[in-house]
Amino acid sequence: MIQKRTIGIVGTGQVGVAAAYALFMRGLASEIILIDKDAKRAEGEAMDLMHGQAFFENITVRAGDYRDLSSAQLVVITAGVAQKPGENRLDLLNRNAAVFSEIVGQLDRHSPRSVLVIASNPVDILSYVTQKISRRDPCRVIGTGTMLDTGRFRALLGRHYGVDPRSVHAYILGEHGDTEVPVWSAANIGGVPLVDHSICGKPFQAAEMNRLFDQVRNAAYEIIDRKGYTNTAIGMAIVRLVQAVLEDQKTVLPVSRMLTGEYGLTDVCLSIPSVIGINGVQDAILPSLSDTELGALQHSARVLQESITGISI
Ligand code: NAD
Repeated sequence: MIQKRTIGIVGTGQVGVAAAYALFMRGLASEIILIDKDAKRAEGEAMDLMHGQAFFENITVRAGDYRDLSSAQLVVITAGVAQKPGENRLDLLNRNAAVFSEIVGQLDRHSPRSVLVIASNPVDILSYVTQKISRRDPCRVIGTGTMLDTGRFRALLGRHYGVDPRSVHAYILGEHGDTEVPVWSAANIGGVPLVDHSICGKPFQAAEMNRLFDQVRNAAYEIIDRKGYTNTAIGMAIVRLVQAVLEDQKTVLPVSRMLTGEYGLTDVCLSIPSVIGINGVQDAILPSLSDTELGALQHSARVLQESITGISI
């Protein structure tokens, strides 16, 4: 029996709907409120999901507006605007920041206590924008960051070694994007470090592992090339994060959060392993990084900070 839990999803496009579907199937909420600037789209998606009530879970799914989120414990933001022809990256960033300004303003007014989970891209920048705009405690703003990249990394490593990806302990940190950093030095399976070891008969070969990481870094491009968007795995990543919050699990997940001196970095949002519980981000777990990894993380932070400089918040 689930206690009364309301979760809001703002933006019911491909990602929002995949998250709503995964939430529904996991039975994590008693009520899911869908909000989109295209109200009809949100209504259609709510109707479609509701008709699954007879098969799996008796969860109410309805389209609503921000006033319906007053008792929501958590709100997922997956709203986004796509690049217009001829539009440069900074203009797109500014348009997305403006969308966030409107959404976060509404959430602060109507749902000031909820934990916000940001999935819209560029997720690190929009998490930073949310931190700057919102009046809520910074720990209550969590970007999905490199959760998806880390999931892809673990899945590919699991397949390579022939073990369950859930037994692969390995992280991608930094930006969710081109400068993301694979932390090989801390990666292990069953406590055995991957580097310099042979696991399940497979020695660590740097060239092979670099190719594997390239598949992780390029995964979104490859998927978008084939189906036009990515949505199902990020939907599942969102639900894993939602579960860690609502069940106060204290799970360690690589999420995008404001840094306050970790690895010598401040005033930037990027992913580091963090303890996630009922109040959002509770602690940071800082694996020792090799000099190369630390340099790459600092580079990731610089790239993000340069992007932030051009935005009007
Ligand atoms: P989409 O275009 O299918 O959906 C976006 C939705 O946002 C649309 O329904 C649109 O009407 C809505 N929207 C726009 N402005 C709004 C506003 N002001 N208020 C409410 N709703 C608004 O896009 P998608 O494929 O669902 O992707 C959504 C976002 O998720 C994108 O930014 C995408 O890049 C990002 N994404 C992130 C990850 C990740 O790992 N974090 C993975 C995949 C996609």
